[in-house]
Amino acid sequence: MILGALEAGGTKMVCATGDETGRIFERISIPTWSPQDTIPELTAFFKERNVDALGIGCFGPIELDRSSARYGYITSTPKLAWRDFDMVGSFANALGCPIGFDTDVNASVLGEVTFGQAKGADCVIYLTVGTGVGGGIYIEGNLLHGMLHPETGHVLIRKRADDAYRGKCPYHKNCLEGLASGPAIEERWGDRAVNLADRPEVWDMEADYIAQALTVYILTLSPQMIILGGGVMHQTQLFPLIRDKVTQLLGGYIRTRQLEDMEHYIVPASLCDDQGIMGCLELAARAYAGSPK
Ligand code: ADP
Ligand code: ZN
Repeated sequence: MILGALEAGGTKMVCATGDETGRIFERISIPTWSPQDTIPELTAFFKERNVDALGIGCFGPIELDRSSARYGYITSTPKLAWRDFDMVGSFANALGCPIGFDTDVNASVLGEVTFGQAKGADCVIYLTVGTGVGGGIYIEGNLLHGMLHPETGHVLIRKRADDAYRGKCPYHKNCLEGLASGPAIEERWGDRAVNLADRPEVWDMEADYIAQALTVYILTLSPQMIILGGGVMHQTQLFPLIRDKVTQLLGGYIRTRQLEDMEHYIVPASLCDDQGIMGCLELAARAYAGSPK
């Protein structure tokens, strides 16, 4: 069986083929232009390789409610060319195979629970801190959708008194994405995040904001593991800072064996930045298994 995987991002589209064990055979990346320019290239790639099913992990917001006439659409994205675009319908028509569809971050958490360090766990959060901030949630063995899908990057947090930055999010003054995304770091400190590695005050503030959000997720969802990915998390000095701050913020109120072993509780992604594309393979495998034969 050949499975197709598409990580659909705001700046690039990563297409791969692979199998249900998570093995990747081939991969290409193309820039995200408009649907008219980009979709034919993507469908041609998968058509030529005759995939049996395709899994798409997509930037959002997207419609995941199967009872909606707009199931499979990208909905209110600020990327105007992609607003109200029928992703699932476009690929289903072109390829005629089962299509699995979810958020990019749900695909990443699925990759980690299927092929990575979270195998066997049934409540796991994956948070990416990159151009945007977003989270995928695997809960009691399922990817969480609910009313829409989680938008964990926009939880409101308490801004520090020493932070004069106004925030990057057009919707909220003090949400996690607005204060802690890569572009927010760059605008606040006036340099690329990667060039700020030796400025401890940058990462102390960053860890503070991420830790506030993680504390809310811990208290709300009771995850067994929290996985942090995305470009900003390549600053690995963030991990011990975040773990200490989460411990402080929880204030000793809850005690579990996971919280006593923070190094294995709040962890970097384990699949060398392939968690998303491997999760898309699993989305494809699940779509194939669930389709009428
Ligand atoms: P995207 O979110 O666009 O899919 P990334 O997860 O790579 O892609 O996130 C890109 C953001 O992460 C940019 O704002 C960039 O400045 C930041 N970033 C990338 N690499 C690093 C690094 N090594 N250290 C700090 N920030 C980084
Ligand atoms: Zn926001």
